[in-house]
Amino acid sequence: MDYAAQVSALIEAGHAFYARGWVPATSGNFSARVDDERVAITVSGRHKGKLTLDDIMFVDMDGNSLTAGKQPSTETALHLSLYRRDPTTQAVLHTHSPPATTLSLLLKEALSLRDYEVLKAFPGIDTHEYEVVVPIFANDQDIGRLAVTVEHYLDYHLDNYGYLIAGHGFYTWGSSVEDACRHIEAFEFLFECEMLMRRMTR
Ligand SMILES: [Zn+2]
Repeated sequence: MDYAAQVSALIEAGHAFYARGWVPATSGNFSARVDDERVAITVSGRHKGKLTLDDIMFVDMDGNSLTAGKQPSTETALHLSLYRRDPTTQAVLHTHSPPATTLSLLLKEALSLRDYEVLKAFPGIDTHEYEVVVPIFANDQDIGRLAVTVEHYLDYHLDNYGYLIAGHGFYTWGSSVEDACRHIEAFEFLFECEMLMRRMTR
């Protein structure tokens, strides 16, 4: 995997996602696997609409900074647990869009997405006659503890493409940055549809 291209793709994702309102006020964080021992990730607190190479740093698989003077996002542990559990995961993207945040508070345990044609954006799905369940985890400022909760869920739910954190945002991943970006776009579209449907059927 050409990691320089992946890093450029992370920067482009930041600009595109900010323009669409998915990463307001320095929120969200993005990463890409460099090799078995390193991950490129956005530096804590950087504005995703203005990302440059200076806003990307490297960490080892334990979350230690490998870039002098830079600290990764506090949510790095959530990224690393996804890389550790699946060697095919090459990128992890985290957004804070209004529909994702609102739905995560409105619904208690999970969001069920079914009968949408766009579900075919996810690997292994070739029909709209499918249900994708997006689990919702309680937010936790102890990220290590939250990572354990997420891992426990994923251990028992192998058919998973992303998860919500209540009042916080959304995580998804993929086999490249491009792949993970497609997942974000598909999920954000679905979250908007779910919001619209709730408004129209009130
Ligand atoms: Zn976050």
